Amino acid sequence: MSYYILDKTNIASYLYQIDTIKEYFENAELSIDEIGDGNLNFVFIIKSKADTSKALILKQAVPYLRCVGEEFPLDKERMTYEIRALQTYSQNTPNYTPKIYHANEMMSVVVMEFLGEHIIMRKGLIASAFYTNFSEHMSDFLAQNLFKTSSLYLNSKSKRSLVDKFNANTQLCKLTEDFVFTFAFMKNETNDAYADNHPLAKELFTDMNFKKSILKLKYKFMTQSDALLHGDLHTGSIMLNCDETYVIDPEFAFVGPFGFDIGALLGNLVMSYTSHVAQEGSSTYSHWVLQTIQEILEKFEIKFLLLWQEQEESALITKSFIDKEYLDIYKNEFMLNILQESIGFAGAKMARRMFGIAGVEDIREIQELTIRDKAIKQTLQIANTFVTSYETIQNTDELINIIKESN
Ligand code: ADP
Ligand code: MG
Repeated sequence: MSYYILDKTNIASYLYQIDTIKEYFENAELSIDEIGDGNLNFVFIIKSKADTSKALILKQAVPYLRCVGEEFPLDKERMTYEIRALQTYSQNTPNYTPKIYHANEMMSVVVMEFLGEHIIMRKGLIASAFYTNFSEHMSDFLAQNLFKTSSLYLNSKSKRSLVDKFNANTQLCKLTEDFVFTFAFMKNETNDAYADNHPLAKELFTDMNFKKSILKLKYKFMTQSDALLHGDLHTGSIMLNCDETYVIDPEFAFVGPFGFDIGALLGNLVMSYTSHVAQEGSSTYSHWVLQTIQEILEKFEIKFLLLWQEQEESALITKSFIDKEYLDIYKNEFMLNILQESIGFAGAKMARRMFGIAGVEDIREIQELTIRDKAIKQTLQIANTFVTSYETIQNTDELINIIKESN
């Protein structure tokens, strides 16, 4: 089958060529609506007219950037990596991955479970909703997927074939190199107009010590192939309610540094914190956000180490190679390194959201400018410490103190 663009007029006939989907909808007539609030792709909700509780999501990548239009070409093959990542997540963490009903790399299409009782986490955070199971779920998701796609679990051959499966996601990796690690820290036409003449932007763009550390993080991003990453794990890529958590939208997936996804999540939770503090001062909610950050990191470490303990043989470790005492020392150093890198990447992810092309609703949508500036200032202060000092931070208490002591 060669590629064509799906729309409301041809989706039903496309879907009804697929047995699993015919079965799911029991051949009923379908209603089709476009719902995408995303930036890059088209997302449709497909419902059975006979039984509206039956609904699926169809997502298709088009050969351009949806929010800009055809003048910004972007290979539709990005969906290939999203499909492959979703398939890996389905194996490792089915509880946190929408069920996949159909995937076609040629068509850049995936059809998946409709998460009708879940909302985008960023919206929930903005509305001060508490998600008490989130740290349990997310630490699980991160530990399982990062461990099981790394050289601590896979053998040498499988690890290299995993790298091969994702290595050609070049355009989306380049977007991150440009928009996360570069343009947002210099004068650039893609930046938000709010950056123009803003004293905090000027300060950021001329901070050479900060930029030196950003280069270090960017280099890690470009060269370190630890594990399969989601690549864009911010709170807009998570759909949840109090009981369930799902990760969506892994089109930036590639094999990269352990700390990058953890850092994305950490950074976005810190921006929720600074947004709430700027608007309401310190509150029960801002404390819950901090507690969640600490719990995710601590539970992640425990779960990752438990998985490691069960794995005596891998690309890295050969049985009887090293005694337990020294292996434990190595593991502790290893986990500290993941924590430190996560903090560094979190800082980069936070700082780039202040004046770069893509802001976060938590802060950019604050209408009162003095309050928005307060959030930006505090975010940049924390981000600066994260980016320039991540290698000196020894534990999560120190991390939380940096956030608490900022203003
Ligand atoms: P993009 O890659 O264009 O950003 P996303 O995968 O983020 O696309 O999807 C865009 C929006 O569509 C999400 O923010 C969410 O509101 C909705 N969406 C995506 N997948 C699902 C799903 N499985 N169930 C319900 N809504 C979804
Ligand atoms: Mg998205």
